[in-house]
Amino acid sequence: MQCIFCDIVKKRSKAEILFEDDSIISFLDINPFNVGHSLVIPKTHYENFLELPPDLFGGILSVVQRLAIGVINGLQADGYNILSNNGRAAGQSVFHCHFHLIPRFNTDGYKFKMDLKKYGNGEMNMIAEKIKSAINNLA
Ligand code: AMP
Ligand code: ZN
Repeated sequence: MQCIFCDIVKKRSKAEILFEDDSIISFLDINPFNVGHSLVIPKTHYENFLELPPDLFGGILSVVQRLAIGVINGLQADGYNILSNNGRAAGQSVFHCHFHLIPRFNTDGYKFKMDLKKYGNGEMNMIAEKIKSAINNLA
C-alpha cells in the first residue's frame, strides 16, 4: 500500500518536520492555506479518526496545541483553525489520519462561507434522537 505520510514517517519522502517523538510526527503541509499550515499525524498508519486508538488522542492534541503556540509566537498568527477531514465526502485526500493546524491572519481574506441550512419543524429533535440512540448503543 502506497502512503505518502508513511513515506514521510520512514524518511523515504522529504518533509519539513516540525516535531517528532516515538508515536507522532508533525510537518508543514506542502500546499498551505497559509504559510505555516501544518499537519500532525500518528506514525502508525490509521486510515481515519475512527481507527485512531484513544491512547493517542492526548498526545496528538498536545502537539496540535504546541504548534498553535508556535504559529502565534513564531509567525505572529492572529488565530488558527484545527481541522480533520474524514472520508472523501469531507475532503479527505490522504487516507492516513491527520489533523491540520492552519494559522490565520486578520488580513488573510479567507471566509469559511457556507450555505447554512435551517431545520424543519421537529427535525432538530429527531436528528438529535438519532445521534443519541446511535452513541448510546456504543460499547
Ligand atoms: P486532506 O485533504 O485533509 O486529506 O489533507 C491532506 C493534506 O496533505 C493536503 O493539505 C496536502 O497538501 C498535504 N500533503 C500531501 N502530500 C504532502 C507531502 N508530500 N508533504 C506535505 N503535505 C502533503
Ligand atoms: Zn500511512
